[in-house]
Amino acid sequence: MSTLPPCPQCHAEYTYEDGSQLVCPSCGHEWDPAQAAAEPAAKVWKDAHGNLLQDGDSVTLIKDLKIKGSSAVIKVGTKVKNIRLIDGDHDIDCKIDGFGPMQLKSEFIKKA
Ligand SMILES: [Zn+2]
Repeated sequence: MSTLPPCPQCHAEYTYEDGSQLVCPSCGHEWDPAQAAAEPAAKVWKDAHGNLLQDGDSVTLIKDLKIKGSSAVIKVGTKVKNIRLIDGDHDIDCKIDGFGPMQLKSEFIKKA
């Protein structure tokens, strides 16, 4: 009748739902099936064209980038070597020749 999973501890099949929890009447184990099932998806980084990016990749800017607090602009087509993928709004950490350490958005670059 139900498709509830068996107890992960004692494998009894007579589990029942209690709110968002599942409860095993045999051993008293309670767990959250959503948490048990959902392995956190690994974050992937993609360039503007949807190519997967990896640490150490070389990329090219597809957009002029103004540098905050200065009048300098990093021109479209600038090559960036050895990127590092990070979490955040700007998801790429790198060093650009002549400009120094920089954080970029993956949507403004393409894999070289
Ligand atoms: Zn059990």
